[in-house]
Amino acid sequence: MPRRPENPGTCAYCGEIITKRGVSKHLDICPKRQEALASAAASSRPEETLWHLRVQDAYDKDFWLDLEMTGSASLDKLDKYLRAIWLECCGHLSKFTIGGWGGMDVGEARKSDSIFEPGLVLRHLYDFGTTSETDIKVVAARQGKASGKQPIVLLARNQMPKAVCQECGEPARWLCIDCLYEADKTGHLCDKHAEEHPHEDNGEPMLLVNSPRLGVCGYDGPAEPPY
Ligand SMILES: [Zn+2]
Ligand SMILES: [Zn+2]
Ligand SMILES: [Zn+2]
Ligand SMILES: [Zn+2]
Repeated sequence: MPRRPENPGTCAYCGEIITKRGVSKHLDICPKRQEALASAAASSRPEETLWHLRVQDAYDKDFWLDLEMTGSASLDKLDKYLRAIWLECCGHLSKFTIGGWGGMDVGEARKSDSIFEPGLVLRHLYDFGTTSETDIKVVAARQGKASGKQPIVLLARNQMPKAVCQECGEPARWLCIDCLYEADKTGHLCDKHAEEHPHEDNGEPMLLVNSPRLGVCGYDGPAEPPY
């Protein structure tokens, strides 16, 4: 069976479309990234370890983020970031683990320097009922100065996965939760078919947003980075 191509992403510095495995290579030559690094180096902030993280939905590899996090920041900063960009519906509990359910919990007060090492994979669990599971892989570390006051920088992010209307095959912008959970369909709808759509048990069709939690526990975005 032919493998589905990986969902590409966008460089957060210059907007270029890049593959998931080409992120590091692109960042090394991205002029906008180089500018940001140069101005960070000229700042009076202290040098520290900066961790390159690959964040990915544990079950849907179309959703991924590359982040850089300062070594002095604690894991609760990463939790807040993930909530803002992907997860937050109604303030559920969350935790970091090594190994997921039944694995080892890693406290949110831990600083990234005290736990991260290249190759480590943490699993983040958000909402202990209808859980969103997110893997955080430590890709690399470098010594440098943070590029701003914030502990986390978005390096790259997956593009919105392509969706086609379940009725007509045209590009879709809407999701019907009833179809998704009760009719065994994708639930994706174009503008025309969203308007005519008969289901409203779980509300009208919602706009597709760039998050793996869309439609879970009523999550409908905004799926924007917090800063
Ligand atoms: Zn770039
Ligand atoms: Zn919820
Ligand atoms: Zn349609
Ligand atoms: Zn429907």
